[in-house]
Amino acid sequence: MKNYLKIISGITFASVVIGAIITGVVWESFGVFFVSLIGGILVAFIAVCQHLAIAEVLENQERILFRLQAIEKNIKTAQKQCINCKRIVTTDYSSCPQCGGRMFR
Ligand SMILES: [Zn+2]
Repeated sequence: MKNYLKIISGITFASVVIGAIITGVVWESFGVFFVSLIGGILVAFIAVCQHLAIAEVLENQERILFRLQAIEKNIKTAQKQCINCKRIVTTDYSSCPQCGGRMFR
């Protein structure tokens, strides 16, 4: 779990507890305090779970993007140019697909 998520979770749960205490004091009732505490914790728990799910999706996207960039870099470096027609082809070609030439630079 990332640090900012820990902080967000901490703040969320702390404000839920404080909110429940204030509500209980205002209503002068332990029952109200208890119900708002449980309700608040449930809502906060769902919110934190959503945060975690989004963070995981973002992390996956970052990983995929990194891999794509690595592949793209490989493709760019594995190129050669036909001496005859100047067409740029990847190194897996043994002859130029445009003019059939076999000389590359
Ligand atoms: Zn060519």
